[in-house]
Amino acid sequence: MPKPAANLDKLPPYLFAEIDRKIADARSKGVDIISLGVGDPDLPTPAPIVKAMQEAVAVPANHNYPPYHGTEEFRNAVKEWMKTRFDVSIDAASEALSLIGSKEGLAHLILAYVNPGDVVLCPSPGYPVYNNYTLLCHGEPYTVPLEASNKFLPDVDAIPADIAKRAKLFFLNYPNNPTGAIIDEASIAKIVEFCRKNDILLCHDNAYSEMTFDNYKAPSFLSRPGAKDVCIELFSLSKMYNMTGWRVGFAVGNPDAIKALGTVKNNTDSGVFKAIQHASAVGLSQSASLTKDLNSIYARRRDIMVEGLKKLGWPVEPNEATFYMWLPVPAGMTSVEFVGIMLDKCGVVVPPGTGYGSKGEGFFRIALTVPDDRLKEVLSRMEKSGVTFNAKQACAAG
Ligand SMILES: *Cc1c(COP(=O)(O)O)cnc(C)c1O
Repeated sequence: MPKPAANLDKLPPYLFAEIDRKIADARSKGVDIISLGVGDPDLPTPAPIVKAMQEAVAVPANHNYPPYHGTEEFRNAVKEWMKTRFDVSIDAASEALSLIGSKEGLAHLILAYVNPGDVVLCPSPGYPVYNNYTLLCHGEPYTVPLEASNKFLPDVDAIPADIAKRAKLFFLNYPNNPTGAIIDEASIAKIVEFCRKNDILLCHDNAYSEMTFDNYKAPSFLSRPGAKDVCIELFSLSKMYNMTGWRVGFAVGNPDAIKALGTVKNNTDSGVFKAIQHASAVGLSQSASLTKDLNSIYARRRDIMVEGLKKLGWPVEPNEATFYMWLPVPAGMTSVEFVGIMLDKCGVVVPPGTGYGSKGEGFFRIALTVPDDRLKEVLSRMEKSGVTFNAKQACAAG
């Protein structure tokens, strides 16, 4: 057998391997494991979308290859949604593109833009695809730290001028996975200006735009005047409507970027199943009513955890978006050590912050993807096992 390409060796080690082994081991012993690990909704896709899919799948005209860039119906639904939701105008023909999930779009955008040695600005902590696919494309990821002290926003003034000059792409994601942070208008304006000045394509990965609470509404970067000159924005129906398995999303924004991404895709995949595009268009056309109920469920789960973790000593405030909580580990231990304690002592799976980049050290993430009673069970196991924010004995036991 020939060896796989050398750049596969550049990918960081899979941090969950050891945890996965422990989970399998515990499960085989009959331990009732609760996983707050994966950002994958536990609730079903809303009924109107499922019904539209059931009907569309029976239509023979939907069975052949779809148009590469997305059906007209889907692209028009995207255009309408961008207008009603954000007051952003896009041209459905040249500024919108269907994606087989936004992860696919992120990876292929890097393939479309990065020459060997090109710099890609990657937030840390951040969604691992930005960094890892840059490595696969022989690019050079540059870590842009997201610090708690700066509300997990990037400080573009701290990016060295020579790095900014060599940078091709800048990935950002607000509301943010893994931190749950949100972004303000002034910060968007500053980032857009930075990208204009340095001729950088800004890719805003807006996977959680609809998962917001307490009357907060997340922005589109494209509603910033002039942003479309430098920005492409990716949306995903995965977290919006509990459709992670369906594999559907879309890119909107700068027509040159849409074209470049489309060219890579034309030569790689053959589009999204037309029935899925139809069901997605139906979802987008009644988006607000579909997300309202889901968000009230996530907000209630968040409140349960905030209250419970406060009692266990954690410094925690309710976040206004995403189904994630990003929490500090108790002093004197690493993220991986704490995650091991949660598993061994409580039978609870949480990912270590370092799974999202080096700047994730000192944190762990909770995904609110289990029902209320299971969250209460997590809290009660933590209390019984003495896993509190200040408990030294819990630390030492690891
Ligand atoms: C889940 C997620 C994605 C991927 O979404 P898909 O559309 O399912 O590929 C992209 N970016 C972030 C930040 C995510 O959390």
